[in-house]
Amino acid sequence: MTPLLAVDLGGTKLVACLVSEGKVLSRVKVKTRVEDGPSGIAVQIAACCREALSGSGLALDGIAAVGVAVPGLVEHATGTVVQAPNLGWESFKAQAKLESLLGRPVVLENDVNAGLVGEWAYGSLKPFQGLQGRQVPLAALFVGTGVGGALMLGGSLVTGWSGVAGELGHMKVSEDGPKCGCGRRGCLEALASRSAIEKALGKKRGKLTSGRIAQLLDRKGSRKLKKAVSRAAHYLGVGVANIVTIFNPRAVVLGGGFMEALGERLLPDIMGSAREHSFAKGLRDCKVLLSALGDDAVPLGAAHLAAASLGNR
Ligand SMILES: [Zn+2]
Repeated sequence: MTPLLAVDLGGTKLVACLVSEGKVLSRVKVKTRVEDGPSGIAVQIAACCREALSGSGLALDGIAAVGVAVPGLVEHATGTVVQAPNLGWESFKAQAKLESLLGRPVVLENDVNAGLVGEWAYGSLKPFQGLQGRQVPLAALFVGTGVGGALMLGGSLVTGWSGVAGELGHMKVSEDGPKCGCGRRGCLEALASRSAIEKALGKKRGKLTSGRIAQLLDRKGSRKLKKAVSRAAHYLGVGVANIVTIFNPRAVVLGGGFMEALGERLLPDIMGSAREHSFAKGLRDCKVLLSALGDDAVPLGAAHLAAASLGNR
């Protein structure tokens, strides 16, 4: 299979990968220059893609397509990023811009959607590909700076009527809970993200990495932190329970930096809370799994979607 390029564009970092057969062959990681605006970031993406190719002996024309995962809402029909608050993008025609810079077909996808597809194609959810003839429902919760969600049914992403299905981080889990970045109160993201923990500790956003939180938990005298982390686990369980109630998934994958650092440790508490809050049969039949691919889930999913879309052009 012809190699692909995949980009995981975040509000703080930008990663470009050369991908072949579900494997990342090379990786370039830089700080996202959000201050340069949409066109500036597009130029930065193109430069990173070229750099990811250097040393591979490949040129851009040896690449089948470029999958680009963005932290926002994507309108596929027009190749537009409708909204990406962390990038400050609104109605940016990213596909056309990137295709003109790279000269290759570009496929955009929401980052958590790409992550779910990555886990489905190559990671934790791979065993559920083979359930032929069943419309297997699968879900993802990615926990990091925020909480992202995604849904799949029968091997396809469920995007809803207007593309906003599966925004699981903004399901309400506590009516009077803390204020969320979306302006409402008590969303899962406002209680169970890394930012929610930073806020509970009175820290500035971006001050505590997930790895640092894991280290600090082992120290004495971190009562406030322990409380914030156990609150996060509790509400992630409520979130899983709600997903199970609404969607009856065969599996839910928990990913993102926060779960990568703390998933093993928090899973028993998450499951305890999920059992308390869900419809018993639904949860019994649902596997709750940690991501197998870590940071590679999003680029591998973006590459997979880019390859799949070539057949539809
Ligand atoms: Zn919200």
